[in-house]
Amino acid sequence: MTTVPQRLVVDRGACAGHGLCYGSAPDLIDSDELGDPVIQVDPIPPSQLETARKATAVCPERALSLTNAESPDSEEPPR
Ligand code: SF4
Repeated sequence: MTTVPQRLVVDRGACAGHGLCYGSAPDLIDSDELGDPVIQVDPIPPSQLETARKATAVCPERALSLTNAESPDSEEPPR
């Protein structure tokens, strides 16, 4: 079975900077000086997909998602 590469994407308009995502997946997500999440690994290695899924699940704003890294729609919009 071929696995489609996945990418973590933050909806900057929805993100409230709680920090739960980078607390949940510190190897995948860091924070900037404002406390906003910064994705560190792209695409997500298959071995870390479950951690990435858990990070999306803890976001109370539903601002973090996993998308197909090969889709042109998966690019994070500029800040
Ligand atoms: S948990 Fe969600 S709202 Fe909080 S910093 Fe992460 S993406 Fe933003």
